[in-house]
Amino acid sequence: MTDQTPSRTYSGSCHCGAIAFDVELDLAGALKCNCTICTKLGAVWAFAPKTKFKLTSGEAQQGDYQFGKKHLHHRFCTACGVESYAEGTAPDGTASVGINLRSIEAIDVDKLSPRPWDGRSK
Ligand SMILES: [Zn+2]
Repeated sequence: MTDQTPSRTYSGSCHCGAIAFDVELDLAGALKCNCTICTKLGAVWAFAPKTKFKLTSGEAQQGDYQFGKKHLHHRFCTACGVESYAEGTAPDGTASVGINLRSIEAIDVDKLSPRPWDGRSK
């Protein structure tokens, strides 16, 4: 890998701060999805292996929402309602997390160029 696609560690949280995490992300992989939940969330996502994700606060504060094929666990804060990440298994079998980049204050989502992802027809 060259440093053209740098990964760095970001800290994110839900709105009230009960749920907080550190995650190593490469923002070159950012995407926006047209599926039914992403449309309502307005989320922009980046994905990482779960080994690069560390929940630093809020284990007991998390809800777990699933729908459709139930491949993903949508993790939201049961106090403020914000979904800051989701977890599931990548096609190659790796445990993975999808981070709602809007939950990371250091990231200006409007400066990214997320790829469209046709999640609605998957
Ligand atoms: Zn919260």
